[in-house]
Amino acid sequence: MSQDCQKPPLEPARIDWQDATPVSVQFADVYFSRDDGEAETRYVFLEQNNLPQRWADWQSPGSFTIAETGFGTGLNFFCAWELWQQQRQPGQHLHFVSVEKFPLQREDLDKACALRPQFAPLHQTLLAQYPPLIPGLHRLHFPAEQLTLTLIFDDAIEGFRRLDGCVDAWFLDGFAPARNPQMWQPALFAQMARLSHDCTTFATFTAAGDVKRGLRDVGFTVEKHPGYGRKRDMLKGQFTAAAKTASAWKASDAPWFRVDYQPRPPGTVAIVGAGLAGCCAAYALAQRGWQVHLLERNAAIANQASGNATGITYAKLSLHDTAQNRYYIGAYLYACRFIRQVFESAQVAPGQDWQLNGVLQLAYDADEQQAQEKLRTSGLWPGDIVDWLDADATTARLGFSTTNGAVLMKNGGWLNPATLCHALLRHPRIQLSTNTALQQLKRADERWYINDLPDGYDAVILANTFDALQLPQADHLPLRRIRGQVSHIPATPASSILQHALNYDGYINPVRNGFHCVGATFQPRNRNPELQMDDHRENLDKLREALPALAEMLDIGAVEQLDGRVGFRCQTPDYLPIVGPLPDVARFQQQYAGFHLNPAKQTYPPCPLLPGLYITTGFGAKGITGAPLAAEILASYISGEPQPVDRDVVFALHPARFLQRALKRQGRPD
Ligand code: SAM
Repeated sequence: MSQDCQKPPLEPARIDWQDATPVSVQFADVYFSRDDGEAETRYVFLEQNNLPQRWADWQSPGSFTIAETGFGTGLNFFCAWELWQQQRQPGQHLHFVSVEKFPLQREDLDKACALRPQFAPLHQTLLAQYPPLIPGLHRLHFPAEQLTLTLIFDDAIEGFRRLDGCVDAWFLDGFAPARNPQMWQPALFAQMARLSHDCTTFATFTAAGDVKRGLRDVGFTVEKHPGYGRKRDMLKGQFTAAAKTASAWKASDAPWFRVDYQPRPPGTVAIVGAGLAGCCAAYALAQRGWQVHLLERNAAIANQASGNATGITYAKLSLHDTAQNRYYIGAYLYACRFIRQVFESAQVAPGQDWQLNGVLQLAYDADEQQAQEKLRTSGLWPGDIVDWLDADATTARLGFSTTNGAVLMKNGGWLNPATLCHALLRHPRIQLSTNTALQQLKRADERWYINDLPDGYDAVILANTFDALQLPQADHLPLRRIRGQVSHIPATPASSILQHALNYDGYINPVRNGFHCVGATFQPRNRNPELQMDDHRENLDKLREALPALAEMLDIGAVEQLDGRVGFRCQTPDYLPIVGPLPDVARFQQQYAGFHLNPAKQTYPPCPLLPGLYITTGFGAKGITGAPLAAEILASYISGEPQPVDRDVVFALHPARFLQRALKRQGRPD
């Protein structure tokens, strides 16, 4: 199957509830022991990975990662969480990464959780965030618990093949090898080795010979241990770093995007630019214990690309399984959870400055109608994230008439970006300096120094859009400036009925502070910072065309009297943002020069980087949707934690991709 063809929808777990015991129809096996599943989990996975002792001995800040095959009903997760609650120290964080090919539907998970009333508060916390059944990675944060869960809805081998990060303990669950031979393969053990270090342990309930040999072959010491209850034996062991393969990759492994993930304790970081990208990055690192200094050249935060009165978090659905589309949907789902969580914890009630009550994508012309019909019939997009509405249902939802159907993107909505930035910057580990422009960035004594500030930083993140191009470290990046004008249309009592952000070939948001934001134009070659009447007309024409009944309800008046805002989007040639470590350009070009001449045969070292220097930029018009996930990707790079997106997405956003493409082009005839 080629990379970008349509992927079949996820197959949810089919469960036969036998006397309140969940039995998998796909595997004809129980999810956990009928006798005492919890005690078995504690014995096999927690104790034989030595977690009680390892966590008792661990006194420093930092993170610990458990990876599991088969999330199922989450029993192992809840038991690990319970132990974590007893042993965690301030500044410590647990990552639990679990891959699941047949995820439980919410109702089944609910039912399984009800069987274990002792975990009720943990169940409620999980169920509040349980993701839609869409393939790929879903990162869920539980900050009060110092815990992050990454659910990978995929086959175990494929899921771990695409994971970047570093694992401290493996829970090898999954139905018994005899019933589930496809999972217990050498390819799975190879991925475990790739993600392990010399203190990584594993434990599994099975003692099957193939598993024992497979794990030994990739470098784990394997020891037989008495099994739980009636089971005679189980396996446990540790990885030996000596078994790690050399750090050189073939061209097909994309060495130019490879970095080493080593857990790293929190330090100090300077972040340049206090728009959405910078504020989200500041928050993600502050949450991990980093001391953050956020520098903003203007007097106020969020006043450039993030300065619109309201914006939308939204994703265009697709039929194709590409890294780009996985990024868009992943960023959207992550942003919706993140925004809600940040506003709720900052006690910013919905209504005035935000509302995640769904975005309506109108089927405003024949092409869009056809596209929506294909998406609907594909079965790829489940009812927990979308509703397909015909014209009557759309009219009923809007409260005014339309002849168009729509798709309701249930998780999305609108917000005032500056309010989100202010909520993020309430974090006590973030210090903000306004009126502070970055003029110089120097490296000395393994630290970065900014302007004439006396203290160096362990890391620096550039979140200053086009200004990054003024630095020699980033001036190679192909950032384009695209003008966009938003019109502020005064609301009327009638137009205030609009409750949803609405997308067509433009957009209109519900009233805030007396007007609707209607946008936005797209002008790559226009540098005019002033409002243009033609742009207002373009915004209004699109609105009248798509939603004539709503346009009638508005008090538009003379175009010359309209207010609005001009912004310059920072866009890349491939329409994906640039997120990650900055390469050392000269060394990069030297190291990979000529790779196109004999790409299949040679091996290469990983990407030469400017140590500790990162960038997050190029979100175009999608900053609200993209910035939260980008921040999580950066924080994962910097702290050496598991990435929240699959590796192909990490690579698709990598700052070195333009250099790599340029080198590749050298090999082609003009
Ligand atoms: N830890 C689980 C719990 O607490 O319920 C028990 C899991 S159950 C014994 C095994 C799980 O592995 C099932 O949820 C099953 O769908 C999943 N599984 C089986 N084969 C898999 C594969 N190839 N990749 C990922 N998950 C798989």
